[in-house]
Amino acid sequence: MRTALVYHGEMTAARLLWEDPECEIERPERLTAALERLQQEGLERRCLQLAAREASEAELGLVHSPEYVSLLRGTSALGTEELRALSGQYDAVYFHPSTFHCARLAAGAALQLVDAVLTGAAHNGLALVRPPGHHSQRAAASGFCVFNNVALAAKHAQQRHGLHRILIVDWDVHHGQGTQYIFEDDPSVLYFSWHRYEHGRFWPYLRESDADAIGRGQGRGFTVNLPWNQFDPELVLISAGFDSAIGDPEGQMQATPECFAHLTQLLQGLAGGRVCAVLEGGYHLESLSQSVCMVVKALLGDPAPPLSGPMVPQHSALESIQSARAAQAPHWTSLRQQGSAPILSSSTWSPEERPSPVSPGGPKFEAAEAQTSAVLSSLLDQLHLHPTPPVRTAVALTALDAALVLPPEVLLQEGSAPQEETQAWARLHKALAQDTAFIALGKVLHLLNGILDGQVSSGIATTPAIAVTLEVAILHGLSHRAQRVLCVAVGHLDRPPDLASDGRTLWLNIRGKEAAALSTFHVSVPLPGTTGGFLSCILALVLPLAYGFQPDLVLVVLGPAHGLQDPQAALLAALLRGPAGGRVLVLVEQESPSQLVGVLARVLHGEAPPSLGPFSMASPEDLQALIHLRGQLEAQWKMLQVAGEAGDRAEAECRECGGTVLP
Ligand SMILES: [Zn+2]
Repeated sequence: MRTALVYHGEMTAARLLWEDPECEIERPERLTAALERLQQEGLERRCLQLAAREASEAELGLVHSPEYVSLLRGTSALGTEELRALSGQYDAVYFHPSTFHCARLAAGAALQLVDAVLTGAAHNGLALVRPPGHHSQRAAASGFCVFNNVALAAKHAQQRHGLHRILIVDWDVHHGQGTQYIFEDDPSVLYFSWHRYEHGRFWPYLRESDADAIGRGQGRGFTVNLPWNQFDPELVLISAGFDSAIGDPEGQMQATPECFAHLTQLLQGLAGGRVCAVLEGGYHLESLSQSVCMVVKALLGDPAPPLSGPMVPQHSALESIQSARAAQAPHWTSLRQQGSAPILSSSTWSPEERPSPVSPGGPKFEAAEAQTSAVLSSLLDQLHLHPTPPVRTAVALTALDAALVLPPEVLLQEGSAPQEETQAWARLHKALAQDTAFIALGKVLHLLNGILDGQVSSGIATTPAIAVTLEVAILHGLSHRAQRVLCVAVGHLDRPPDLASDGRTLWLNIRGKEAAALSTFHVSVPLPGTTGGFLSCILALVLPLAYGFQPDLVLVVLGPAHGLQDPQAALLAALLRGPAGGRVLVLVEQESPSQLVGVLARVLHGEAPPSLGPFSMASPEDLQALIHLRGQLEAQWKMLQVAGEAGDRAEAECRECGGTVLP
């Protein structure tokens, strides 16, 4: 894994030269604090370090008007009073004699990162830059932003590298209206923004930040979206603002740093993992530095720490997701398929009901400051409770296959559990006493002990007796530290009959005989036959259940007749690295092709899963099965609600399809 880190110390030169409470938070320490933390955590030296270059004026012209570029060039020669007067012409912007240089370095850094990733010099990377870019427009600075770094990076990727489909994910707490304006009539760039809106009373107070702004002309449906499934981008650019992170005075929101690791990890499933993150906002130095480290760790392939807190979506979040889904449904069959959309009403306040606006650098919650720093330091402690294991991925095989190709850092495990321990578990089933099954069991137990003791993050093991070995793995996990074990069993595998129904094991059978929730903790779903159906099954059912369960160990089992193609198995394993902090054990049958073992080892090690191939629509039966299960499980598993509106409508559709069990 090569992760590029693009930076230049001269980007710290620009700073505010006069009093302005609105602008004072955008200061040079944002970069130095983040960089210092990356150094302390040993992350900087693991990256390919690139010194940022200035973007040329021709490159700036990809997005900005010549007049605007020349106006900015002129700022280098202005005195403080002139700079101040010019700044006043824009919304929440300040200029400094170094601004033009810094902004060209920031834009150049984004272009360099794209070059590094698209030429193969790096797999992914982060550009640590200021000034930020996503509010900047063709001929206007806005919200601390001078040139639109990410928009320039997207245009550069298209013009210089010939790409056709680029996804921009903007997770800054503010809406990147600049990026939206630049691409709103362009279907080749899908802009997905997640931002605080407050019904229009959060800066930049724009009606067009709402969910029903979906782009125009040819670009309808390519602004604000749920990007999975169909768009299949060739490059993912992240407008990585961290002002939604806990403690931030601007965003006043509660995202914990590890959220950003999970988001990064999820996005790595797209575009073959070609992900370029470019810093935008983020004004609480501690929270910003931690969040930057989380993104870099995820880019480097380190497992993300598990998410803490209750896994229950906020009602207002569900409303927002549903509005976005409804607005986009006419343009995306993958969304339309998931059922009829609710009636869309704008979530913007009308002028008379509008409460006082929240501006950048505006009202701060000082009372909460002390409490926030206590929360932050306790979070920091928590993260240290999840140190990265020395071995990221280990493979335990019963027989070595010459055709097996593994990344050099993947450990080929030779050891086995002590004889007595293996014998004790082997007594459970006769099949485990057989020669190879017994040897395999010893290796599985050794690998599992490594995972449970924090020595190994994830692993793959082969066995000739998969069903009974799986039962031992569950019981062993539960008796050694694991509080909750998620078991995703693919193929013809029955839940072990003697397993206690105490809520400590969630058994998910993919390629089950029928779509059925046999209990809250025992769910069966047939294997969908299309890429669309498979993605819906994983994203709308398996992942919400997995995150909702908050397991500390995930077992993925590819049993008899599992029917998964290698890219499907890889995507499943890659996504299941999320819920348990990367603690995943994959069990496969002894005669599985070495190619499958190789691809699983690579994704567990943090590489992007291979493409699923051309998108094909989910079949009506597959979708009904999902809607049926969501309807049955949603009351206990609230995370399923984020995947779509089930509830009454799903019940109704279930009645239509004739009962509770589907073919
Ligand atoms: Zn922001």
